[in-house]
Amino acid sequence: VIKLETRNLTKKFSATEGVADISLQVYEHELLTLLGPSGCGKTTILRAIGGFNKIDSGKILLDGAEVQGLPPEKRPTGMVFQSYNLWPHMTIYENMAFGLKLRKTPKKEMDAQIAEMLALVKMSGSEKKYPTQLSGGQQQRVAIARALVLRPAVLLLDEPFSALDAKIRGQMREELKRIQREAGLTVIFVTHDQEEAMAISDRIAVMNQGAIEQLDSPTEIYDNPHSRFVAGFIGEMNFLDEGGAVLAVRPEDIALRSASGAGMARIESVMPLGHYTQIILVRADGARLKVFIPKEQALGYIPGQTADYSFTRFKQFGAAQASA
Ligand code: ADP
Ligand code: MG
Repeated sequence: VIKLETRNLTKKFSATEGVADISLQVYEHELLTLLGPSGCGKTTILRAIGGFNKIDSGKILLDGAEVQGLPPEKRPTGMVFQSYNLWPHMTIYENMAFGLKLRKTPKKEMDAQIAEMLALVKMSGSEKKYPTQLSGGQQQRVAIARALVLRPAVLLLDEPFSALDAKIRGQMREELKRIQREAGLTVIFVTHDQEEAMAISDRIAVMNQGAIEQLDSPTEIYDNPHSRFVAGFIGEMNFLDEGGAVLAVRPEDIALRSASGAGMARIESVMPLGHYTQIILVRADGARLKVFIPKEQALGYIPGQTADYSFTRFKQFGAAQASA
């Protein structure tokens, strides 16, 4: 079931800035991530869907109905921003109650709904606190609860965890997946962090310069990137110029063998990284290759010596695409 759809959505700030012809479909109960470098247009799309940006052209459909003409409060979307989400002079209860009051929700019902949503994000009992009494992670939980208490059809999250430190961010990812599952949410999540996108997404739309380059499952994006940009943006990748084309090879897709005689490449460094070992090879033509092998296979490889290698899989891109 398609929950949300954009058709040729275009929003330009100048000739080169903004997004053009964005067409995407988000399925019910799906977590779809817009992933791309800073400035590629992720926030522009999210704000357009939420109604905070007037679009130049195109359509936005929610449950099949066009919403592009409606103001934010008339759209069945809820948005959580990167930071400054809660009003600092209001208690958590008042923050949560704000939108419900505008809807003239009876007090008793409001109390119950606020308690229910705070329980969902594991913040029960924090009603009387002020935002500054909570940690950054707790504040973002409340911000998500505040969006959810209005029962949005689609939850829009713009880099909600990027201000948090790495450990809390990891916990929040798992929390978000749990909340999504328990509440049956449809979520559009924005991040520039490819690891975060890989970890939480049902599908990822990889964006570059105002356009979507590939929309696929995380494994498909990783194993079968359609462009050099996608190949380089997700995970680690070696790029090798081979007579007019470019080979893209993952470090884990290079098999090593001890060389009999002079090997194909010199071993520059061997670095244990926990369960695998990183080996840097330098070929005679100067090209460097990063290789990941299981640590128990790394024992025979010593810096300064040579080794042979082969690619167990790779992708090839044409020269024109490679230079883009
Ligand atoms: P992202 O969220 O992926 O970092 P944005 O959607 O915020 O990117 O911005 C995309 C492009 O549009 C950038 O070049 C940015 O400078 C430009 N832009 C965004 N908002 C505005 C605005 N209100 N006025 C002018 N240019 C803007
Ligand atoms: Mg942004």
